[in-house]
Amino acid sequence: MSYETPSCAYCPPTIRACRQGEGDTRGPGFCPSKVDDAGVEAAGRIYQDPFVREVARASALVESEGYCRWTRVEEIVALAKRLGFRKLGIATCISFVDLARTLSAILESHGFEVASVACKNGGVPKEALGVADAEKIRPGTYEAMCNPISQAELLNRAGCEFNIVLGLCVGHDSLFFRHSQGLATTLVAKDRVLAHNPVGALQLADTYYARVWGPDRPAKLPAQPVEGRR
Ligand code: SF4
Ligand code: SF4
Repeated sequence: MSYETPSCAYCPPTIRACRQGEGDTRGPGFCPSKVDDAGVEAAGRIYQDPFVREVARASALVESEGYCRWTRVEEIVALAKRLGFRKLGIATCISFVDLARTLSAILESHGFEVASVACKNGGVPKEALGVADAEKIRPGTYEAMCNPISQAELLNRAGCEFNIVLGLCVGHDSLFFRHSQGLATTLVAKDRVLAHNPVGALQLADTYYARVWGPDRPAKLPAQPVEGRR
């Protein structure tokens, strides 16, 4: 670990001094406040933008108002209301369309207008990306590519101010976030093995999911997370 790069992941539970605004004095040598305080200050200037400031402020208020009481669905509704959004978008995996229907109806029940686009929209064959037949999930069949850029483009054109990702997989979600003009958040992160609960692989990294480690697994595991602490 270098003392030139922020490395909060290794901050001991007994320190985490940023909670008290004391990172620059009590933080470890790799604390962002020590290795790149200018970066923290640069971020502070971005918050001067009125829209950014309002999103950050509203997010903090939603967090405290529903703390440990509201589900993420309720938090999304509350944030969209606080920010005055009228039109919401859903970028869904084709396998989640039934759940997208439930989500769309819930959002509409709160008075929002909703547009939704499935990842296979357009039905473009994977061959268009240079994927060979043998490289498909089921060779010899028609497989439409996941088209997250089209999802973003369609939701942009529909005027969606806040987009919700429902079960997009790794990389496809990255492209969606890059191309969404509206703010975007994740409701469900795709993990086919862990019932879309990817944190399970981290919580069980020293037992059932030890296979996640690479060849340089450290002898001593990092400290386990302290659940429920902010
Ligand atoms: S005290 Fe510094 S190193 Fe520790 S978690 Fe906070 S910011 Fe990161
Ligand atoms: S590529 Fe990902 S997001 Fe698209 S259908 Fe398959 S699992 Fe769903």
